[in-house]
Parts: sequence; structure tokens; C-alpha cells
Amino acid sequence: MNNNPAKNGGPRSSCWTLARVREMNLQLEGRCQAQGCAWFGVFDIDKLIEQLGPDYELPENAPGTSCGLCGSGPIKFQLASLHQDVSGASP
Ligand SMILES: [Zn+2]
Repeated sequence: MNNNPAKNGGPRSSCWTLARVREMNLQLEGRCQAQGCAWFGVFDIDKLIEQLGPDYELPENAPGTSCGLCGSGPIKFQLASLHQDVSGASP
């Protein structure tokens, strides 16, 4: 496991693959970048892996995906951690 963050001043390219996102139990969200538009959506990782494969690397912006609300805005990916309620789980 190589766990050092690459901070060498390179371009901000996310090296997240779909498999890694799922492995880390993260939620893939998309947000419209158009001004005045507040579209927000959550992508289904399992479905994306089925379609694109687990080794698909996430670009910063969703390719070929236009906003469903304004129809023109680029969708920017963002990752969110899911809260796992471990302590409160009781059978
Ligand atoms: Zn939009």
C-alpha cells in the first residue's frame, strides 16, 4: 500500500478509479458548474463500474455529461465520505 499524497506541484488530476472510490466507501457526487444553477446529483458507483469498468479513472469533470437542469453546465465530480454508523448499530 503506497499512501503518500503526491504534492509535487503537478496538475490536479485525480487518480481515483471507480474501484478505489468504492473501496474507500466514498460517494461520487456531481455538481453543475454553470452560474446560477444548483444541480446536484449522486452517481451510482456500482452502475458506473458495470458500464465503465473498475479501472476507469475519474476525470475532474464528467465527460459528455451535461447538466440535466440547465442542459449546458459541465458537471464536476466530487467525492464525499459516507458516514458509517458503527457505534449505534445494534441488532
Ligand atoms: Zn446546470
